[in-house]
Amino acid sequence: MKYDYDLFVIGAGSGGVRAARIASQAGARVAIAEEYRIGGTCVIRGCVPKKLLVYGAEFSQAFADAPGYGWTVQSASFSWATLRDNVQKEVTRLSGLYNTNLLKAGVTAYEERAELVDAHTVKLKKSGSELTAERILIATGGAPSLPADLPGIEHGITSNEAFLLEKFPERILIVGGGFVALEFANIFHGLGSQTRIVHRGDRMLRGFDDDLRAHLHIESERLGIGLAMKTTVTRIEKTGGALRVTLSGGETAEADQVLFAVGRHPNTQGLGLDRAGVKLDSAGAVIVDEYSQSCVESIYAIGDVTNRTNLTPVAIRDGHAFADSVYNNRPTPVDHRSVPSAVFGRPPIGTVGLCEADARHSHGEVDIYRTNFRPMRNMLSGNQERTLMKLVVERSTGKLLGVHVAGEDAPEMIQLAAVAVKAGLTKKQWDSTFALHPTAAEELVLMREKVADPK
Ligand SMILES: Cc1cc2nc3c(=O)[nH]c(=O)nc-3n(C[C@H](O)[C@H](O)[C@H](O)COP(=O)(O)OP(=O)(O)OC[C@H]3O[C@@H](n4cnc5c(N)ncnc54)[C@H](O)[C@@H]3O)c2cc1C
Repeated sequence: MKYDYDLFVIGAGSGGVRAARIASQAGARVAIAEEYRIGGTCVIRGCVPKKLLVYGAEFSQAFADAPGYGWTVQSASFSWATLRDNVQKEVTRLSGLYNTNLLKAGVTAYEERAELVDAHTVKLKKSGSELTAERILIATGGAPSLPADLPGIEHGITSNEAFLLEKFPERILIVGGGFVALEFANIFHGLGSQTRIVHRGDRMLRGFDDDLRAHLHIESERLGIGLAMKTTVTRIEKTGGALRVTLSGGETAEADQVLFAVGRHPNTQGLGLDRAGVKLDSAGAVIVDEYSQSCVESIYAIGDVTNRTNLTPVAIRDGHAFADSVYNNRPTPVDHRSVPSAVFGRPPIGTVGLCEADARHSHGEVDIYRTNFRPMRNMLSGNQERTLMKLVVERSTGKLLGVHVAGEDAPEMIQLAAVAVKAGLTKKQWDSTFALHPTAAEELVLMREKVADPK
């Protein structure tokens, strides 16, 4: 045979594993290489361990809410070591399942780093062996970025290390304004850390609807999470057992950990893509077409390394579509529009479709429906957390362009709202749905009054 494999996949994360399995089941001879742990970011140090920590952090609010419902919770205490180790056990179990599924599908797994030698050859770094393949799939994901020139940056951590901390930080400073920053702020705050977010922008969660962003600022401050906007870190020093952080205004703050969540970059450095002639964009992402094919015929790329929509379900869909297109004779372009997303903060956010500003920009006249209320579940407890819901509707057609919720269970609601947005339903069709009472979600189909147009 001309090549050792039909397909060589670099990176056993969400996208790579799916592509490898589907291609192998279609009859291709497939190998996959993984330099860290099989399962990738989502399973090992992203969505899964993060969500488990979110569940852990939610208990403090449940304990605070309990007396209003007649419960007395005495001397509740928290053990970071127990939560951390239980989360890691689950991560290891899932990684094992991914491994088993690859084996069952007939994929050969190499647990080491792979780099490209040319358009059909990869080199395994540990063993030094070179393997050839008719096609190579780059599924190497992304990695947290760090401001390398910041004095004292060696004392900072990223989300990668946050899951494995030896000691629970009593005080944590989180640098960044995206969903990872906000989620970790809520995790550590919920578990008992004194938490502060430092962000160079004037508001968190760029790219989300402005009303949601404002709501999350109000709720975070009400919870007691410190928000220092338009602020950067200029120096970190170790002082005894703690860290002294100097901020751009000259203020210094003490913390036990400084977590940087300032963005991620595609994992393409040192991969040898230049040797194969693969073109990257200015952010270092592999440029691909709608079938995930790069400018080199034999090389494809999927998931975060292409920096399209950096979410697990997208990487999985990219990987599946690639395998269907190439090995199942079913050309499948991926439509990256209307991908629902969540921020597992307090309150959690679920969102799908266009935010108001983008909708006004791309669709002209839009109607806005909005409600802001304290949900029934918070009445007896005295919990002041409020829920915000918002619909963005195209005025000329009545089509739902966006659904945005910040409130308990918002991500669960939005998974279903995404069906309506993806299907292009109108607000009239949405409203013809019966409410389900008593829920918070029923408010979504009961918003009758438009918000007056901004003057
Ligand atoms: C803290 C955090 C929370 C997140 N939460 C969510 C969430 O709630 N929901 C959601 O949808 N998404 C979430 N994401 C994003 C999600 O994890 C990614 O979008 C998804 O994992 C991308 O899948 P992928 O297959 O492209 O890459 P990855 O899952 O990153 O897999 C790439 C793999 O390639 C390996 N690799 C890299 N280079 C090489 C090489 N040269 N040789 C061999 N192996 C290599 C890496 O070790 C890695 O295992 C989160 C991310 C982070 C960081």
